[in-house]
Parts: sequence; structure tokens; C-alpha cells
Amino acid sequence: MLVRGVAFRLKGELPSEARFLLEDFRLAVNNAIRAGLQARVTSRNALSKLTYKEFRQVHPRIYSKHLVSAFEVAGSVLKNSRRRLRRSGAGRVPYVRRLMMKAENQAYKLDREHGVVDLPTRAGCHVKLELQVSDYHRRYLDDPSLTLGSLTLLPDRVIVTFRKEAPRPYVPESALSLDTNERSLDGVFVKDDEARAVKAVFPDIAVIQQRHYDRRKKLQKKKAHDRRTSRRLCRREGAREHNRIEYRLHQVANAVISFAEDQKSAIVLEELKGFRSTWNKELNRRLSIWPRRELHRIIEYKAQWRGIPVVKVDPRYSSRTCPICGRIQDSRMGAEFECECGWHLDRHINASLNLLQTAISKGVAGGSRFNPGAFQHDVMMILYDPERGARSEPNGTSGMGAVT
Ligand SMILES: [Zn+2]
Repeated sequence: MLVRGVAFRLKGELPSEARFLLEDFRLAVNNAIRAGLQARVTSRNALSKLTYKEFRQVHPRIYSKHLVSAFEVAGSVLKNSRRRLRRSGAGRVPYVRRLMMKAENQAYKLDREHGVVDLPTRAGCHVKLELQVSDYHRRYLDDPSLTLGSLTLLPDRVIVTFRKEAPRPYVPESALSLDTNERSLDGVFVKDDEARAVKAVFPDIAVIQQRHYDRRKKLQKKKAHDRRTSRRLCRREGAREHNRIEYRLHQVANAVISFAEDQKSAIVLEELKGFRSTWNKELNRRLSIWPRRELHRIIEYKAQWRGIPVVKVDPRYSSRTCPICGRIQDSRMGAEFECECGWHLDRHINASLNLLQTAISKGVAGGSRFNPGAFQHDVMMILYDPERGARSEPNGTSGMGAVT
């Protein structure tokens, strides 16, 4: 079962009944957390046994399904804090500060046509929340193959999860192989006998990372006397950086996904292994692998949702191997890969060719073959460029048929 959370803004202010409900929910969660800590339990059932009766007496009006869901939330908070404690040895007493509540799918109703949530607050009382519905939201609301999962209410928005059976991936008719780099995806698209170089660039992600890194450094220096403030501000910086990068990664992934879907391609990616190492900190940060991993996660997730096959291959030697004669070079060279056999190509594109060859040898590239003679590497097809927006027309002549 695949699950996707979709956020809706509320039309107007949050009704006061809903705010009271949020406050009650938080109270129930924190109550259960405290009880769970004392009794050293984390499961929803155990928490329920411990606190249900007592909480009911104090708050007789809260809807019982919400109470059960509060135990669920408390349980996951407890489990997370236990994990943190085990990992780092230290941790504060868990406590939920922000207002939120979660309702399982039997505990709310959603009018999918009008975008209105009907949420019971206590016995016999309901609150209606009107959602702002855009075209993006319509795609989920109007799709009958999607069923509703849980709902999360926050003071300014509602997150509804939609669920569906994972579609069976199609049989690919072409392959899109991508080598993932710090500032771009570089690859090869093969269909029938023809191949061409493709690229999706995201130079700004490294720039954003750098800028936020500098800003955090400065904050730490400026607030050196006040560690709490410094930590809070850094966390805020971190969240902003995260959002900006995430937004860009989604755009890149969307471009890749819609191209692959149009062409009925299998997507070939390298298996990214964590290379945390003993290198100096500066280099490690600069090459932070997180955005690339995250990009893969997003691509794989979206592909699964749409039934696009994704193949992960071992990237060993992919940047040093000649795809024509198979020679492995001793060390990586400059921007251009050159081989004694006469083959030369952009290093990143060359790496993706090797990924493709691996996928072909495993028989998972949709019957595509790579034919070096028909490879148009002087013509680059741009899948994504923030300067130009999503996919542009391929420049130059097209043997493949332009994709629109
Ligand atoms: Zn060679």
C-alpha cells in the first residue's frame, strides 16, 4: 500500500472548537507520555490501559477515537526519544509543544467534492473545516482509486493521507540512466538503437547549502555566549534550508518522472552508499550526500506511485571504466573521460553509460541496447534547468522525436 500526505490550507481561521480540540489532544498526549515514562511502556495499548480511565474522568467529553489516536502519537514520541537516548546517550524529557492532532480514517469525514472536513469533537458535536482546494488537490480528491488514510490537524492546515495499491510497473520500452552528481543528474536516454545525452541541472542546491552553512557559522559565533538561542536559530536556519532544497529536488524529480513516463522508460540509478569518511570536515560538508540521497528517494517514491520501473545498480568503477573496450583507468581524470581506444566523453555522462551497461547486462533496461555509433553526445537534452523551468525542447536536430 502506498501512502501520500497532501497538505491543505484552511479557508479562514481555525474555528475555536477545533482549537480546543487541539489543546485537549495535546494534553492527552503529554499525559500519556508522562505515564508511559513512569511505567516504562510505549505501546498504544499499554498507554491506553494506564491512562484512559483517569483521563476520561477529567475530560469526559473528548471523543474516544481521538483519545486512542493520542495514545498512538504518545507511543511514537516515546519510542523516538528512547531511540535518541540509546543513540546519543542524552536527551530531554519528551514533551509535545506544538498543537497537532491526528485522526484515523474512521474518526473523520471528508467531503471530497467540496473539500470540507467533518471532525467530531466530543459526543454529538462536530466541527467543519473548509479546505482551500487547488488543481493539485483536485488530482487527489477526484481520483476514485485513492482511499483516505489518517488526517493530521495543525493550527493552520490539514494533512490528509491518501492511499492506493502500488500499481504494477509497466514493461519499459526505453531506458533513462542517470548519474547523480552534486549539481546535476547526467545521463543517457536510449530508445531502440539510438542514444542521447540528457541532463537535469540544479546548481542552486549546492549554493543554498553553502549559504546556509555560512549563516549558521556566523550565528554560532555571534551567539557564542548564548547556546540556547544559538541552537534555536540554527535549527530554524536548518529547517529553511531543508525546505528550499526539498522544493528544488521535487521539481527535478518531477521533470525526470514525467519524461520517463512519456517515454515508457525504466529509470536506472546508482546505489548510493554513504561515504562518510575520515576526510576533512570541510570537504565532507561540501560533498554532503544528503541532497542526492533525498533526490533518489523522491524519484523512487514518485516512480512507484506511477508504476515506473526503477533499477538500482552498483556504481563501482562506473566513473573509471571505458564503456567501449572495458578498460578500467587507475584514477579519475578531468571533466572529460578519455580512453586509449579513442573513446572520449564527458565524465559524468560516461559514468551513466556504465550504469546503463550494467542494467542492460542484467536485462532490466527494457531491451535497450547501447550503440556507440548512434550516440548523439554533441546534442544535450535538458530535462530540467531552473533557469528555463522544466523540460525544454531538445536543442539541435532530433533523431528521437522531440518530446513535448
Ligand atoms: Zn576504451
